[in-house]
Amino acid sequence: MNILDGKKCADSLIAEIGKKVSGYVQGGLRKPHMTIILVGEHAPSESYVKSKITTSGLSGFESELIRLPESIREEELLARIREINEDHTTDGLIVQLPLPKHINPQNIINAIDPAKDIDGFHPTNFGKMTLGQKAFRPATAYGICKLLQYYSIPTKAKHVVVIGRSNIVGKPISIMLANDFDIGNATVTLTHIETPRELLLEMTRVADIVIVAVGIPGFVTPDMVKEGAVLIDVGINRLESGKLVGDVDFDAVAPKCSWITPVPGGVGRMTVAALMINTLNAYQNNFNLV
Ligand code: NAD
Repeated sequence: MNILDGKKCADSLIAEIGKKVSGYVQGGLRKPHMTIILVGEHAPSESYVKSKITTSGLSGFESELIRLPESIREEELLARIREINEDHTTDGLIVQLPLPKHINPQNIINAIDPAKDIDGFHPTNFGKMTLGQKAFRPATAYGICKLLQYYSIPTKAKHVVVIGRSNIVGKPISIMLANDFDIGNATVTLTHIETPRELLLEMTRVADIVIVAVGIPGFVTPDMVKEGAVLIDVGINRLESGKLVGDVDFDAVAPKCSWITPVPGGVGRMTVAALMINTLNAYQNNFNLV
């Protein structure tokens, strides 16, 4: 069993980005700039935002955190987004999810200028990605692809089973790995809560690569995977003890795997690194650098 070390891979990608940025800055350009909007108070969001801001500094970017009250009306939030869309000094904009219940997240995502949509959630980017066109790819899915690439894990002609169909993870990773991308060309089975248990087991037991994003600790058990499978654990679950775990029963499943991601230190790190790649690309687009 080998560990897919998200921290090591992310650090190497961030170092590469940092070098590129310092070249641009030495050439007289301003730094890339990332803006994050955080609405209300939500402990996991606080920690994700902190990690994005720290990593943006390590990448040589400037970043700005805009905190807005829980009570903000949807119209007011949309107005702030429109302001940032018009601001040429911001390359990338993230509106941290989840949002308070009275705000429709789809309206918010749709309002972000696709050119600044470094999360890759806007229908324009998602649509282009689906069609195999150049676009910002959803960060967690993109991060998983980068991790597989870093460890030279082939996806071409492999059978990938994805568990969970969220718009931010399961759906985009299924599409990306099935597409004719540099990392892709796999045969993908997308499963979800309505997949009969027997069918789910039938699929995961023959999968070369299992990607799980359900948000249930210990969901993937050793009887579900074949010997030598690659396991990508997207889940981030805080146990009552305070311990952070994924969706895989790691100690039991790891011995059966050829490769497995740890939690923490796996996909979470890669998500942030992929956001940095998207921000750099947004900046390069702004300055016609590519
Ligand atoms: P979600 O919470 O929106 O939805 C869960 C998905 O799991 C649904 O599509 C549902 O159909 C599926 N599901 C639930 N029970 C199932 C079952 N019994 N069998 C098969 N499928 C089942 O999904 P999400 O937002 O993708 O989050 C999933 C997990 O990934 C959470 O723990 C979240 O915190 C984590 N996450 C991690 C990162 C990261 O960067 N590592 C990013 C996003 C989400």
